[in-house]
Amino acid sequence: MAPPGVTPRTEGKANQVGRCRNGICHGLMRAVFLDRDGVLNQAFVRNGKVYSPDTIEEMIIPPDVAPALAQLRAQGFRLVVATNQPDIARGRLTRAQVDAMNAYLRSKLPLDAIEVCAHDDVDRCDCRKPGAGLLLRAAQRDGITLDESFMVGDRWRDVAAGQAAGCANFFIDYGYDEKRPDAPYITVKSLAEASTRILGKLIQLCEYNRS
Ligand SMILES: [Mg+2]
Ligand SMILES: [Zn+2]
Repeated sequence: MAPPGVTPRTEGKANQVGRCRNGICHGLMRAVFLDRDGVLNQAFVRNGKVYSPDTIEEMIIPPDVAPALAQLRAQGFRLVVATNQPDIARGRLTRAQVDAMNAYLRSKLPLDAIEVCAHDDVDRCDCRKPGAGLLLRAAQRDGITLDESFMVGDRWRDVAAGQAAGCANFFIDYGYDEKRPDAPYITVKSLAEASTRILGKLIQLCEYNRS
């Protein structure tokens, strides 16, 4: 039973609950920003170090990824990949090879956009994570409200980029032997768990906003 004066929650797009007042929801464009390697497709770990796939054949998408993305999209989230691909700057991969791998991902997963940083640290660009450039670019283009959006990544650079953009951040902790993110962030085991947490929180927000 809803308390007196509170409209019982009805089914609706959870995407819109962040700004619901007195039962009226105002639409927002919210996004889930997604790191690529280690989030959508598997990364490779050798001696505690993490490596990205070099070919489409090496892109292994865990079976729970597509359903998790579909759930988020069904609630109106825009799904934007934000990926560092420094192997382009380092000459290990061509831009065309990376584009082909990204096209493969888009053929398998419900993604709205893929933002790529092709630089390395020495380039001092504003888009290489931990910079927020990839997220800011997408937000400006697509009208995304960053402080109502989320980032999901498996490395400190992803979390830092999301923090710099003003998003709430999920860290998929695989125990890599490398620097960990600075707080605040939420640790999860998988994209699917992040998706569940995001959608669960939306329901709570809706309850709070109506009381
Ligand atoms: Mg990654
Ligand atoms: Zn860049």
